Amino acid sequence: MNIAELSEKILNGDRRALARAITLVESGREDHRAQAGELLALLAQSGRQALRIGLSGTPGVGKSTFIESFGMMLVAQGLRVAVLAVDPSSARSGGSILGDKTRMERLSREKNAFIRPSPSQTNLGGVARRSREAVAVCEAAGFDVVLIETVGVGQSETVVAQMSDLFLLLLAPAGGDELQGVKRGIMEMADIILVNKADGDLKSAAMRTCADYSGALRLLRKRPQDPEGYPKAQTVSALEDSGLQSAWDAMQELVDWRREQGHWDQTRADQGRYWFGEDVRQALLSRLETPWARTRMAELSDQVAEGDLSPATAAQDLLKGLGVAG
Ligand code: GDP
Repeated sequence: MNIAELSEKILNGDRRALARAITLVESGREDHRAQAGELLALLAQSGRQALRIGLSGTPGVGKSTFIESFGMMLVAQGLRVAVLAVDPSSARSGGSILGDKTRMERLSREKNAFIRPSPSQTNLGGVARRSREAVAVCEAAGFDVVLIETVGVGQSETVVAQMSDLFLLLLAPAGGDELQGVKRGIMEMADIILVNKADGDLKSAAMRTCADYSGALRLLRKRPQDPEGYPKAQTVSALEDSGLQSAWDAMQELVDWRREQGHWDQTRADQGRYWFGEDVRQALLSRLETPWARTRMAELSDQVAEGDLSPATAAQDLLKGLGVAG
């Protein structure tokens, strides 16, 4: 594959080249990894930046309905929109429930939209790297907005937040008056909480839930990257297309402020540091997954169990064998 040619095509907005490039960055093959590295370096020279929006919510809250309506609104405003997914369940099932084109039929037919399901992988670290690189490819391809969808099960939110400029949490109206057991850690990541399904019979419950979350957000520790009034909660109806413009206005207001104050660049720089550390950790951990390492580890742990070796000595022995001991 001619990488320079592929890069050129992506920069010119060629969709087939874009899809090919994402397949390339998703591949685990050694020669593909090398080509992907070369491609990403070339693409980075474009200096193009999209607004990366992370979006999380539990199944059924309306993520795909929201992405479809919100994406259609942005496309109608002349923006180019890419949708990617980070699906931790794809590791287990091998399939993907997120970012599926059949879930976003109208948007997937738009020429200024691009939808890509989550790469399947055996671990979240692998999914994370592949998704992060897919985001970089979409940025270079000139998309204005890259939506990165995930499902609310904890760890994957951190992964998505660390590759986003903005993090949205989509919630449904609560039945009672309790906050819906949203983990504090996830709430702390949210820049904007959108209470969806604010329509019909659910409208008043949605308003109440929104007020509850507004109150809860005010109690959180103030973050340096937030102007007055943020993080905030708003209601939307993805089904009836209401509140979407207001949500977009809030996102733009927040992002404009962060750009002016230098937080945008700072956050991206911090994210670079974070992913560097994660990639080193992942690479070291993967050394333990080779057949040799597994066998050696089993032998050494038997020796430790029998009292022939101390845990520390056995660990040193293994690390030496891996070539990582000092
Ligand atoms: P996801 O699993 O988070 O992607 O959720 P879906 O987008 O598939 O939506 C789950 C269900 O909620 C579907 O039956 C949607 O029609 C419904 N739904 C999504 N958005 C809204 C909304 O704004 N209002 C109402 N009333 N229903 C909605």
